[in-house]
Amino acid sequence: MYSERINALPPYLFAAIDESKAKVKAKGVDVIDLGIGDPDLPTHPHIVKAMCEAVKDPKTHRYPSHNGLYVFRKAAADWCERYKGVKLDPESEILTLIGSKEAVAHIPLAFVNPGDVVLYTDPGYPVYKIGTLFAGGEPYPLPLKAENNFLPDLDAIPADILKRAKLFFFNYPNNPTAAVADMAFFEKVVRFCKKNEIIAVHDNAYCQVVFDGYKAPSFLAAEGAMDIGIELYSHSKTYNMTGWRIGFAAGNKALIKGLDKVKSNIDSGTFDAIQLAGAAAMNESQACVTETNEVYRKRRDILIKGLKSMGLEAKPQKATFYIWAPVPKGYTSIEFTETLLEKAGIVATPGVGFGAAGEGFIRFALTQPVERLKEAVERMKKLQF
Ligand SMILES: *Cc1c(COP(=O)(O)O)cnc(C)c1O
Repeated sequence: MYSERINALPPYLFAAIDESKAKVKAKGVDVIDLGIGDPDLPTHPHIVKAMCEAVKDPKTHRYPSHNGLYVFRKAAADWCERYKGVKLDPESEILTLIGSKEAVAHIPLAFVNPGDVVLYTDPGYPVYKIGTLFAGGEPYPLPLKAENNFLPDLDAIPADILKRAKLFFFNYPNNPTAAVADMAFFEKVVRFCKKNEIIAVHDNAYCQVVFDGYKAPSFLAAEGAMDIGIELYSHSKTYNMTGWRIGFAAGNKALIKGLDKVKSNIDSGTFDAIQLAGAAAMNESQACVTETNEVYRKRRDILIKGLKSMGLEAKPQKATFYIWAPVPKGYTSIEFTETLLEKAGIVATPGVGFGAAGEGFIRFALTQPVERLKEAVERMKKLQF
């Protein structure tokens, strides 16, 4: 019944965890879910207000334009200049997205021919691989290792793979490892992509979820990046807007045009009212982002204490709302996730769920209030690994 491309999808690794979670819950255990990468805090009120006003205007009720409202694209360009130091032309270098996930899935359709190799960082957001498979491309994972600060080793890619490589997906601040990259790495990526004629796609979904004074750079600020690259921005994690489905692509004109071609033939753009609210989010004060980050920072520091008391090595990360910790010796990531659920009623995500190179790690999401995290820490204190 299903197409070969659906049948070829990798098995859903979280199915086993979901099943165990349901079993533990059925026993009456008060489960603390640190598995979900979805902000628990509501969208900030001034953004909701902008949406309420926009939706009352019948002008927003018709089909949106294929590349997005100019007001939104202009706000995105201004925002990039203000916060990332990157100048962009809202007409040709910005494209409104229905969240960045659709762009990750659509980009291979625009640029990848059957048999082309797509490089992507592993562990990583599953859509890099699946979007590639849907386009008939050949996904090639680049393992992220602790000893390399979770940056890929571009020099280790075999020559025959490089020859066939067309596109490279990477993501810093990184989900799931919480690693960050500096300008030197981005500059290296530009040289690498230019030399091997590869399109660079940087997923910058977590660039505003930052702590302790850290600022996440834009890949587009690297010299020459605009010649070969595109960057994906999302309102989801920055403004607690995962359900709204809004973001934008920025970068090289020809790449923006290719993505626009695919999108204009598949979706019909983002509801104008959501774009107006999204523009308000970018144009108005960013104090709400700072406030949210302070909430995550407090949670981070609480959870790290609990993990340490259990014997897990966890460092306070500079960005993202995740903690990526090595599992104790003798456990696979799935076994340890199951153990934590059975012994403490805590749900986390096994690293292997994000790709083979995630084995040996577990991801905790800081998407629960302080009281719940404190309860999790109390339970962790009773365990020793
Ligand atoms: C959440 C997430 C996205 C997608 O977010 P959208 O809601 O589709 O904008 C993209 N990449 C990574 C790494 C993510 O964690």
